[in-house]
Amino acid sequence: MGLERGEVANSWRRERWDSLRLLTPNWQSRLPGYCYEGADPDGFMTMAEVVEFVARFAVVSDAPVRTHTTVTSVKRTDEGYHVATNSGDLHCRCLVLASGACNLPSVPALRQGVPSSIQSCTPLDYRNPSQLPAGGVLVVGASATGVQLADEIRRSGRRVTLSVGEHVRLPRTYRGRDVLWWMDASGIWNQRYDEIDDLTRARGLPSPQLVGTPQRTTLDLNTLGAAGVEIVGRLAAVRDGRALFSGGLRNQFALADLKMDRLLDTFDEWARSHPRETADAGPPERFEPSRAPASSRLEVDLRSGEIQSIVWATGFRPDYSWLDVPVIDHKGRLRHEGGIVDAPGLYAIGLPVLRRRKSTFIHGAEDDARDLVDHLAQYLAGAGGRLQSTR
Ligand SMILES: Cc1cc2nc3c(=O)[nH]c(=O)nc-3n(C[C@H](O)[C@H](O)[C@H](O)COP(=O)(O)OP(=O)(O)OC[C@H]3O[C@@H](n4cnc5c(N)ncnc54)[C@H](O)[C@@H]3O)c2cc1C
Repeated sequence: MGLERGEVANSWRRERWDSLRLLTPNWQSRLPGYCYEGADPDGFMTMAEVVEFVARFAVVSDAPVRTHTTVTSVKRTDEGYHVATNSGDLHCRCLVLASGACNLPSVPALRQGVPSSIQSCTPLDYRNPSQLPAGGVLVVGASATGVQLADEIRRSGRRVTLSVGEHVRLPRTYRGRDVLWWMDASGIWNQRYDEIDDLTRARGLPSPQLVGTPQRTTLDLNTLGAAGVEIVGRLAAVRDGRALFSGGLRNQFALADLKMDRLLDTFDEWARSHPRETADAGPPERFEPSRAPASSRLEVDLRSGEIQSIVWATGFRPDYSWLDVPVIDHKGRLRHEGGIVDAPGLYAIGLPVLRRRKSTFIHGAEDDARDLVDHLAQYLAGAGGRLQSTR
């Protein structure tokens, strides 16, 4: 039984901005036994299309989902878990936490110092530029969300300042194919969690600077800079009403370029050993280095009126406030080994690099689910099942 507080595909219905399209191409939207079958495999779904896609999967797979049921607490019992919801309580032997990785915005504590005259919003409550007051906008964070929102807000005619910290630069297409085709084909996205050297770092990596548009455009800092977005460094502090930015922009740019080039090297190497799969790919490409501004501003006075609103595109985190089981570490992260949570019969899915690099993406669910269901079935057949039979 699946419990869902809203409708099926709730996060896509309620927690995304109006213009958002998937950054993964249609051919990559696949769920167990179900895939995109439309006429535009290289296109990118709008939110309405994603909702339809997921809702149809729920019907086709006949998934037993109880909608409009919010889990308000989960407690461990001798026999499994006691699950309290807004519409009654349940008992279960095994529980899978599939409540998402992006329930809450991850906003730095320095937000407290922002003057109250500035309107703040996060990607979870941003819908379109019309909801922002007239005037300059500071977008904090330059990963997938930040670059997309900076671009959209700039197009609405506002002055945009984009604060850039660590980021992952990617071209939309490489050697004539979608960059995510290369990630998939070369096996990078399939890399398992127990084969990754620094798993904590891999799990904390920002999302790549990618946007899904019908034109398959690349949206990087060069594009945004050329379009008039002012690029500043990482927001380091807000003091006496002033936003202070780090001066390390050049280093951030160089690092992102270096990592992108290394990834492209990996693709090229893979292509050399897979001539058949890459027969119609174009020649290797290298892209213009990120152009750091000659001198970026190190501070902006937030009381001067120049900035009227701030969009915190600083990431997301899961919400476990309802989980009364001691499986959360001091940093608020779930303690688990490849989705097998540190409590008997408790599992998680859909978290960053849970079992593979692709774990938080739609197409990543299938392989992880298969592995975890195998484990869960064994658990039920063993100790968990014995508990059941003594009940
Ligand atoms: C802005 C944004 C863009 C993204 N773009 C892409 C993309 O282009 N391609 C891609 O593959 N992935 C993308 N993702 C990742 C995407 O979130 C995942 O691919 C997918 O949604 C994960 O599905 P999920 O079911 O694990 O989590 P979610 O979609 O978050 O679903 C979790 C569900 O749990 C429900 N829930 C939460 N708490 C409770 C509770 N206490 N009680 C009952 N129900 C609860 C929620 O209502 C929600 O419906 C994006 C994510 C974000 C935030």
